[in-house]
Amino acid sequence: MTLSAELPDELVTAVRDARRIEVFTGAGMSADSGLDTFRDATTGLWSTVDPQALASIDSWSRDPDPMWAWYLWRAAKARAAVPHEGHRAVAAWQDRPDQEGIAVHVTTQNIDDLHERAGSRDVSHLHGSLFSFRCTICGAAAPEPELPSLTGDPVARLRPPECRICGNLVRPGVVWFGEALPQADFAAAEESMRTCDLVVIVGTSGVVYPAAGLPRIAASRGVPVVEVSPDDTDLTAVATWSLRTTAAVGLPQLIS
Ligand SMILES: [Zn+2]
Repeated sequence: MTLSAELPDELVTAVRDARRIEVFTGAGMSADSGLDTFRDATTGLWSTVDPQALASIDSWSRDPDPMWAWYLWRAAKARAAVPHEGHRAVAAWQDRPDQEGIAVHVTTQNIDDLHERAGSRDVSHLHGSLFSFRCTICGAAAPEPELPSLTGDPVARLRPPECRICGNLVRPGVVWFGEALPQADFAAAEESMRTCDLVVIVGTSGVVYPAAGLPRIAASRGVPVVEVSPDDTDLTAVATWSLRTTAAVGLPQLIS
């Protein structure tokens, strides 16, 4: 279904009648705000670095300085990005005057805070956050460091600060390859998938597990699932409807 096409009546009814909505978002959601991990990693300073090498505890243990520089740069980029119409539509859904008692829970695989800045109040971050920092060893939360200015060129290396409690290095609060997902966020997402009456999947390829298994919990209960994505994904098979468009275009149309 292309955009500008009329939405099917059954879909309009499902959206209008839903009271407990689960919105499940991935990289495509943030890409519409100009945040593109892959492109960042393949141009300029980091063009010769394997992106996977910037997301592993082994790389961090060997040489944390390039990773610290990379994550601070990404945090600065994320802070400079602006939520798009799709983020705003999801946030506005919480407060629709024509729908009383509505609850919208957002589960995101993105590590920026665009959903929160658009106004979403109930957000679970399956892969952590660019804006949380903790000690590599003792896990104590650390204050946000000064972020680099985007007007200059990124630097290749920065020394991470030391934990105020144990003196070990502070690390980004994101989930790296092979690490467990944040337990409370994953549990909240599972609970929402078990109790929602509509799922909206946005901009995720559906290939990263265990996150990609979550929408299947709702689908197995017979809950209607809408996918918003420009291309077919691994989750298209569980979708009741697929809108072949971007998050910034598809979500406002769906929710209005
Ligand atoms: Zn510590």
